Amino acid sequence: MTASPPAPQEPLTPGRGTRLDPWYASYAERTHGMKASEIRALFSVANRPEVVSLAGGMPYLAGLPMEIVAEVTDRLLRERGAVALQYGSGQGDVALREQITTVMAEEGITSHPDDVVVTTGSQQALDLVTRIFVDPGDVVVAEAPSYVGALGVFRAYQADVVHVEMDDDGLVPEALEATLTRLAAEGRRVKLLYTVPNFHNPGGTTLSLERRPQVVEIARRHGVLVLEDNPYGLLGFDDLTENPVMPALHSYNPQGVVYLGSFSKTFAPGYRVGWALAPHAVRERLVLASESAILCPSNMSQMSIATYLSTCDWRGQVKSYREVYRERRDATLHALAEHMPHATWTRPAGGFYTWVTLPEGLDAQAMLPRAVTELVAYVPGTAFYADGTGHRYMRLSYCYPTPERIHEGVRRLANVVNAELDLVRMFGTGGAGTRLAGTLNPGPNQA
Ligand code: PMP
Repeated sequence: MTASPPAPQEPLTPGRGTRLDPWYASYAERTHGMKASEIRALFSVANRPEVVSLAGGMPYLAGLPMEIVAEVTDRLLRERGAVALQYGSGQGDVALREQITTVMAEEGITSHPDDVVVTTGSQQALDLVTRIFVDPGDVVVAEAPSYVGALGVFRAYQADVVHVEMDDDGLVPEALEATLTRLAAEGRRVKLLYTVPNFHNPGGTTLSLERRPQVVEIARRHGVLVLEDNPYGLLGFDDLTENPVMPALHSYNPQGVVYLGSFSKTFAPGYRVGWALAPHAVRERLVLASESAILCPSNMSQMSIATYLSTCDWRGQVKSYREVYRERRDATLHALAEHMPHATWTRPAGGFYTWVTLPEGLDAQAMLPRAVTELVAYVPGTAFYADGTGHRYMRLSYCYPTPERIHEGVRRLANVVNAELDLVRMFGTGGAGTRLAGTLNPGPNQA
């Protein structure tokens, strides 16, 4: 007897899905807040060689000595390949966790390897912390503006993000106090204060020494856990003979802060290795959450980094990155001063970004397609606000292009800004960008 053919699948109920996506009605509610990052949507265009991309935050890997990295990988595979390619511990390789405590000591953090959880980039640490603390409708307080990747995580867990004002010295303590007091009076449950104290992404600002203990103390008094995200902390520019790092928020109250670090900017993002340093009980839950998500971080990546840290001059490498990025920061600031007299911008003391405020009436999001046709790309400020504001701002990343390309990019950008400004002055509203808006930022069904 021949087997009967399988019964045909029930056709999808018309009206439940859409023609573009038959599964539309089946997605979990938490996915409805997800949207493509404006940066990702831009990448395909901005990566074309003729475009000067001041958009993505890609580290300058041509500055990494690839022969040394290749040697490390080669030796690792030959000598310990069977371990490196095997599953590992959910919490992360103990040798690497020990080395991570040494890296953090550079920022005044005293820690024990037991309290470190290695993650797949600090992005995964952001996800894990949010997963174990945030229920739908809980509040996450975050700087205005905030790192777009963190906002995406908070949205995915259906958090309500409330922004708090920043100025040139970082998060404003009085504004934080007022916001937390108001939220408490409204009966809201605030779970996290998310902050990037050093060389802020996207703001380019650094939380002043004076404000650090104040911010930690305000959060402590309101019973709010601080999520300190610090991937750029070692990339300061001010004194290249030594690394003048600010004390981490963690060092003021280790029980009240989860600290996140990463090797993405000080070494290379391709390894996807970051970490969380957390109070002991929190650390246990982070490990459980991580095991259920990924079983364990990559042994290969962790052991490569551990070998690199113990056998290569990693501090020398960080110093050479700082030199490269400082030169690019200077090129950006000079070009802005030369070409953009009507705008203002922050002066980053480290990291990858400067935050530009456009003249009144300009809309960086609407202007973006026009900028790309002029062969320059940036990220509009709206990407960094959970509340739909930020139209007047743009983030410029200077980490990747050479100083000459940066200069050319800013010059092109200034042409676009000036043309828009002329339109605003004549008609009270920008023109070219608005006409093209929508061609670049795909809606949720296209991205
Ligand atoms: N936090 C901030 C502030 C970042 O800028 C980034 C990367 N752009 C991350 C976290 C994530 O970095 P990674 O996952 O590569 O460690």
